[in-house]
Amino acid sequence: MSPYLAGPPLFLFVIVEVFMVVTRFAPSPTGDLHIGGVRTALYCWLHARQHQGVFRLRIEDTDLERSTEASTRVILDGLNWLGLHHDGEIVYQSKRFADYDAIIEQMIARGQAYYCWCTPEELEAMREEQKRLGLPQRYNGKYRDGGEPVPGVTPAVRFKNPLEGSVSWHDKVRGVVTVNNSELDDWVIRRSDGAPTYNFCVVVDDAAAKVSLVIRGEDHVSNTPKQINLYRALGYDVPEFAHVPMILGDDGKRLSKRHGATNVLDYRREGYLPPAILNYLVRLGWAHGDQEIFSMDEMLQYFRIDDVHSAASTFNTEKLRWLNQHYIKESTPEALLPQLLPHFAALGVTADETTVLRAIPHYQERAKTLKEMAEHMAWIFVAPTAFPADAAKKAFKGGETAHLLQDLQTRIAALADVNVETLHDAIAACVEANGVGFGKVGQPARLAVTGGAPSPDLAVTLSLLNTAEILRRLQFAAEYIAQNQG
Ligand code: GLU
Repeated sequence: MSPYLAGPPLFLFVIVEVFMVVTRFAPSPTGDLHIGGVRTALYCWLHARQHQGVFRLRIEDTDLERSTEASTRVILDGLNWLGLHHDGEIVYQSKRFADYDAIIEQMIARGQAYYCWCTPEELEAMREEQKRLGLPQRYNGKYRDGGEPVPGVTPAVRFKNPLEGSVSWHDKVRGVVTVNNSELDDWVIRRSDGAPTYNFCVVVDDAAAKVSLVIRGEDHVSNTPKQINLYRALGYDVPEFAHVPMILGDDGKRLSKRHGATNVLDYRREGYLPPAILNYLVRLGWAHGDQEIFSMDEMLQYFRIDDVHSAASTFNTEKLRWLNQHYIKESTPEALLPQLLPHFAALGVTADETTVLRAIPHYQERAKTLKEMAEHMAWIFVAPTAFPADAAKKAFKGGETAHLLQDLQTRIAALADVNVETLHDAIAACVEANGVGFGKVGQPARLAVTGGAPSPDLAVTLSLLNTAEILRRLQFAAEYIAQNQG
């Protein structure tokens, strides 16, 4: 038997190992999951999935004071809601302190890192002096070549950044970026309180996870040369980088709460659908001709991280609402139902699933969000107890209105079978028998049952209620008119 039949030859494993695409999303759990972070996660996810690669999730919770479990929950819920599922175990940096320490100790032993005994006051004085002289504010290398421990001071550990040369990388979004080592200083890899720093952990973890492409916000560009120097010092392969631009609010400032919702879970509460959010975010900073609507399959087919624009993009809520409306229209009522029901609960309305399912097709055309849809449909489950003055003045005017509503009530009560068609006929018969225009019956009847909420064709509207409820609401309105016009 040929040895090849036993399995793929070893060199194939080697090739797979070398070329495996690995991306990661590495949020810090110190607040909400920002919509900009979600776009980064989406780009990482798309790039990994396009290349049959791996998409990892790492929670960067080394800042024990600012990191919270609640924030980690928000991140996991948000990604899960959007379907941006990661591969493998989630890495929590807070559980890796021993690994970081071991590497730091090795670096000290190899002379790649050193203890710095400077006190905070000394460092502050250093910065003040540099400021005064108009120099860039950097650590002056005082302990780079050794020095005596200072009693009472717990030392930080600093990385020996190369003094000469420069660091260069070809950023997939920004092109070639070059930074001279003279612009960098010996940065801290472990603070005096024992906490390893972001720039250190990120390198150790990305190398351990064999990340091939780091996709992150451009606010990290200035960290990248420091990280590349550390990769080299530790003998790790340097990954590729793509720094995606910021998302701005309509005033040109970085998108923040001042501009409205930035937490992705607020978008769920507002009634946005995951495909609308993902479609909106993929286009924010990337284009494929002038196509606006992208199914998940199309995103996977067309998206290229190299084509992401380097200029910042502006968040446009109206466009997101437009896309959301599109996806609401495209969905089946069955798919919308479970997503819509929580919005009734949020309004304090007890909704009946079967009725909601029947009503959805009549509301899909106009609602821009599921919250709006639930608000528009709430009348089905909450009978009016009063009527908006303006609407009542218009719809209930004329001495015969109460009588017309009662006549319609009688006709509906007499129906053997109540459905859209028979209701339609009952309305038509009422109009005809009383010799009035359709509006004379239609307008007050609609207001009577809906209390003024947006509603479909009158017969359809009535059909969303059971017969007893239709009659009760028509009767209530007739009495209301009698009382208020009395
Ligand atoms: N934890 C960093 C952040 O939330 C991410 C850093 C990275 O992706 O390298 O900004």
